[in-house]
Amino acid sequence: MDLKAKREQKLREIVKFAYQNSPAFKKRLDDAGLKPDDIKTIEDLEKIPLIRKDNLVEIQGQNPPFGGLLAVPPQNLKRIFQSPGPIYDPQGEEEDYWNWKEPLLAAGFTRDDIVINTFSYHLSPAGIMFDEGLRSIGATVVPTGVGNTELQVRIINDLGVTGFIGTPSFLMTLLKKSEELGLKFTINKAFVTAEPFTPSQRITFEEHGIKAFQGYGTADVGAIAFECEYHEGMHVIENLILEIVDPSTGKQLLPGEVGEVIVTLFNKTYPLIRFGTGDLSKLLEAPCKCGRETERIAGFMGRIGDAVKVRGMFIHPGQIAGVLKRYEILADFVAEVTREGERDFLKLQVETANIEEAEKLREELLSKLRDVLRVRVDTLEFVPLHSVKSEKKIIDKREWK
Ligand SMILES: [Zn+2]
Repeated sequence: MDLKAKREQKLREIVKFAYQNSPAFKKRLDDAGLKPDDIKTIEDLEKIPLIRKDNLVEIQGQNPPFGGLLAVPPQNLKRIFQSPGPIYDPQGEEEDYWNWKEPLLAAGFTRDDIVINTFSYHLSPAGIMFDEGLRSIGATVVPTGVGNTELQVRIINDLGVTGFIGTPSFLMTLLKKSEELGLKFTINKAFVTAEPFTPSQRITFEEHGIKAFQGYGTADVGAIAFECEYHEGMHVIENLILEIVDPSTGKQLLPGEVGEVIVTLFNKTYPLIRFGTGDLSKLLEAPCKCGRETERIAGFMGRIGDAVKVRGMFIHPGQIAGVLKRYEILADFVAEVTREGERDFLKLQVETANIEEAEKLREELLSKLRDVLRVRVDTLEFVPLHSVKSEKKIIDKREWK
């Protein structure tokens, strides 16, 4: 059986299963006048209306905690995470629940590796996701989490760490810190994600003997696509269906056409079907030199909505507005994301009728914003009323070279 036939068999199974076990999915099919038997092929998926990551907050909020999307009792879950939004992300009992094993194997990780996993291990699922993927390969994990640069380079030196999981900019930070302290940097393979990976970063890593591979995934879905040894686009993982669609009509697009990344999962815990990530990409045409059967996408090409990723975390305008609303003297705002060297900077301008009074709130406001966004605001400016002119609430000024 070829891959398309295998996926379509799994599709028929999951549609039947989700129709019986996920009330929200049943309602979605019923409302569209569809029966599970109407969905037999990947082309048939087009008939099902999309649900979107950007609407998950609302969907879950109306029917908490999982919006009727969960197909098992919550007691059967292994873990429950909360991503910014807030969005609740369940983890089922399945081994390698988020499918990171396939991407990590392609990146050359083996059971002989000792790996620092620098994603956060609490609230958001990123840390545990990669931990489980690494463990399913048999690699040894050092759960270092975010930050603590100096401690992390000592760990690399002391343990002879060979692998890195995290953002490319943090790997760069570690590399520089290690040179500065004159420590051994034994890492020879890296799996990077959550922000764009620039050609210049790749060259620097290669100069230091580090083979770096890029992956693409989300907190809700887990792995979506990954680079093979040719680094030309990213292969879609075998264990899901990916469509690129016109975001306004939901119709499938041809290779080369830019559209929204839509995924359908086969997992029987949280069977997200036709889930719109809000990310833009396109399918690549020719088969890959590596011989994999899976289709490739060009990687992340932007967002359809307003949410912007800063230092690996999505921030939504609604989160900032929610904090400011608690203070009567604060009004409209605009945020600006820039990049200097290897780091994202977040600047926030907040309108107020009384700048002097607002200044007294500075520390409290920064701390509340940090709690909600999980990213620090680098610069906070209070400005007079009506001085914010921008339509967009978060302006992304970064250029990825
Ligand atoms: Zn390939």
